[in-house]
Amino acid sequence: GIALSGVSKHFGAVEVIRDVSLDIQPGELVVFLGPSGSGKTTLLRMIAGLESIDEGTLTIDGVRSENLAPGRRNVAMVFQNYALYPHMTVAENMAFGLRNIRVAPDVIGQRIAEAARILEIEALLQRRPSQLSGGQRQRVAIGRAIVKEPKAFLFDEPLSNLDAALRARTRVELAELHQRLKSTMIYVTHDQVEAMTLADRIVILNNCRIEQMGSPVDVYARPASRFVATFVGSPA
Ligand code: ATP
Repeated sequence: GIALSGVSKHFGAVEVIRDVSLDIQPGELVVFLGPSGSGKTTLLRMIAGLESIDEGTLTIDGVRSENLAPGRRNVAMVFQNYALYPHMTVAENMAFGLRNIRVAPDVIGQRIAEAARILEIEALLQRRPSQLSGGQRQRVAIGRAIVKEPKAFLFDEPLSNLDAALRARTRVELAELHQRLKSTMIYVTHDQVEAMTLADRIVILNNCRIEQMGSPVDVYARPASRFVATFVGSPA
């Protein structure tokens, strides 16, 4: 599992994360929900190893983060802007990270084929990102994470650039993907509907700290503060 204990972070004089403690179980789908600037993305990037921690500890399967380079964390991040390599085909985008860690070419081929089948992007493998729609690019970004067979997927507002209909459809597909892969997923969003429909557990962030965490039903029915009630749309 992934465990944070008393984690704090500043950017210069600005406090971004204050005393966050959280245990994420293997296979759990945890949503970080909160308004813009509440620190969701920073927390996710700390788990990925893309941001340092000022105070507190982060452990992944019992190993402290200081001893785990980003490349050795076995997590795969899916970014809001997809971050695909424009000069590579879809297949090359998916293969790139695996070649770097010297996965055998036939294994790479198998994993790409399998991910492409799950995501229904087989017909797109030889295209470049510029030849894809936003929704297709998003699938490729998810495919690039799947082929790594990570212990945990880290999603940073992965659906925010899609139109409403596609967002709803992709949300259902992500839920199915979680059922199927049974891997840990951490999902950052400011969208209450995404949080409520996807999460095993919602972590509500506000002003750099955890305001409440619990199952969607819990948080909705028993909001711990007026902020939570308003944010998740609990009945008055
Ligand atoms: P959003 O929903 O808008 O993405 P968020 O909850 O993910 O917001 P973060 O991106 O984690 O919030 O940002 C938290 C705070 O940290 C913000 O005030 C932001 O301006 C600040 N911040 C983030 N990255 C940096 C950085 N590299 N340098 C300085 N300040 C930063």
